[in-house]
Amino acid sequence: MEKEIALRIHTRAVHAGDRKKAGPHIPVTTPIHAASSFFYESMEQLDRVFGQQEKGFSYSRYENPSTAALEELVTVLEGGQGALACASGMAAIQMAVVTALADRPKSVVAANALYGATVSLLLNVLEPTGVSVRFVDVCNLDALRTGVVEARPGCIVIETVSNPLLRVAPVDRVAEIAREAGAALVVDNTFATPLIARPLELGAHFTVHSLTKYLAGHGDVLGGVVVTDEAHLESLRTLSRAIGPVLGPFESYLAMRGIKTFPLRMERQCANACRVASWLQAHPRVEHVYFPAVAEHPDAATIRRLFPANLYGAVVSFELKQAGREEIFRFMDALQLVVRATSLGDVHSMMLYPVMSSHREVSPKHRERMGIRDSLVRLSVGIEAPEDIIHDLDQALARQ
Ligand SMILES: *Cc1c(COP(=O)(O)O)cnc(C)c1O
Repeated sequence: MEKEIALRIHTRAVHAGDRKKAGPHIPVTTPIHAASSFFYESMEQLDRVFGQQEKGFSYSRYENPSTAALEELVTVLEGGQGALACASGMAAIQMAVVTALADRPKSVVAANALYGATVSLLLNVLEPTGVSVRFVDVCNLDALRTGVVEARPGCIVIETVSNPLLRVAPVDRVAEIAREAGAALVVDNTFATPLIARPLELGAHFTVHSLTKYLAGHGDVLGGVVVTDEAHLESLRTLSRAIGPVLGPFESYLAMRGIKTFPLRMERQCANACRVASWLQAHPRVEHVYFPAVAEHPDAATIRRLFPANLYGAVVSFELKQAGREEIFRFMDALQLVVRATSLGDVHSMMLYPVMSSHREVSPKHRERMGIRDSLVRLSVGIEAPEDIIHDLDQALARQ
């Protein structure tokens, strides 16, 4: 494990978690272990495994070899001490927050620009159980400090890169504030991925991913993962044994297969996104481009401090000039290559209309305050030839 930490991410992605001895042979990739339970030569040994005195598998809600391999892989990629793979990104976020709050005050301070379902989880699931929730602008550290003093949170929830306006949180500074306040920091790292940021190394206590997006990357599997530090690992896994949010062995296999090429895909997607973003910036029909590489980005200093050179993520959001729902629908209907669908991070480029999908439930007034206009679209740039993505956008913009 220690040797693996020193390796580059491209190397870790294809080695970590795999090639466990399975009898006389060693499979080169982890098989799909479709067994719900496991037994041993003797009852004595099964008893030790159940009692967790001996490492081993007993029941797949507790641990499954295919899922454990995936968890080891993601732990190594994120530089954590252990992980829990879940059936969805949302299940992973819930597990992180519930674990964080287990022995802390039942109060959450959350970024005011969060994935829509995370807002619902906080307000519609956790708040009714007695957890107080307050939203603040986490890119404004004074506002965050005030929020923390007033709310005395047990947990702070942020995203490395926000959706869909791509604000970048100063994760290291937020982590300092969290630690001073005794709160656990949960970071949704789905948009940034461990190629760009590893929040645990910046002081976070939990990193969460929707595996569905860049990590698995092929649009064929739903999953999530929580990676955590030594201090929270046991309580995370104990809660999971009771709640059972786990990812199955088939999905674990697919996610792991996807992750092997994730650094390659992500590099290509980031490079493509840079090209698409600068092309869009020069297009006469485009009003505004939201992308971490643009010079006037409000978090430019944070991006320079935290992001590696030339990697800015692969989501580009932009507004069309004088466009409302009708013009956006015409533009999106004219796309021939870019897939009109929700989700992001797949090998193919995808576009969604936040007003219709991710922020549908948010009132128009609240949306306006968040800066999410009717003229805004979000593009997840894929691994295609960038000329072809640009050509498709160009012909669709001509019809808008
Ligand atoms: C998609 C997504 C989630 C939820 O993940 P699911 O796998 O759909 O449950 C959470 N956070 C972010 C930033 C996402 O993009």
